[in-house]
Amino acid sequence: MGLMIRSSAIHAAGCYTTTPIRKGVRVAEYTGYRMTKDEADKGYEDSPVTYLFGLGDGTTVIDGHSAAMFVNHSCAANCETEEIDGRVYIVALCNIAAGEEITYDYCLYDGGEDEAICNCGAKKCRGTMYSPEEIKRRKAVARKAAKKRNNKSSGNADKRRKSQG
Ligand SMILES: [Zn+2]
Repeated sequence: MGLMIRSSAIHAAGCYTTTPIRKGVRVAEYTGYRMTKDEADKGYEDSPVTYLFGLGDGTTVIDGHSAAMFVNHSCAANCETEEIDGRVYIVALCNIAAGEEITYDYCLYDGGEDEAICNCGAKKCRGTMYSPEEIKRRKAVARKAAKKRNNKSSGNADKRRKSQG
């Protein structure tokens, strides 16, 4: 299987396949330095761009350092992520033709001020890379914030992270 990083219409650089990929095949593993959620929050407090992937245990974060970190988000993705024994794989949701860009749904969570606007161009684009649950959570937070407008509140310093759908 050949993966290639080149500029993408969705965002900056993207990950493309040079060979056809069959549905269900593991395309890549999301590898990188593993740290705790707290370490990631501290280390990336002021970083606008991060390649963090939060594991299902809620405490471990992978700081991407391989081709998988360049895979862009799409609301109509051709891949999904699968966590097996603490390892994260990008798996094809359908047959993918040679030359296509590899995408998966980031399902971002723990968002701060960032709107995480999506430019995937899909018909059913959510307009944001946040997960549907996170969109609900953010709306609720915004409603509370509107009620407490006069009270000072500390901002959510959490960096957004990718997670399984
Ligand atoms: Zn989208």
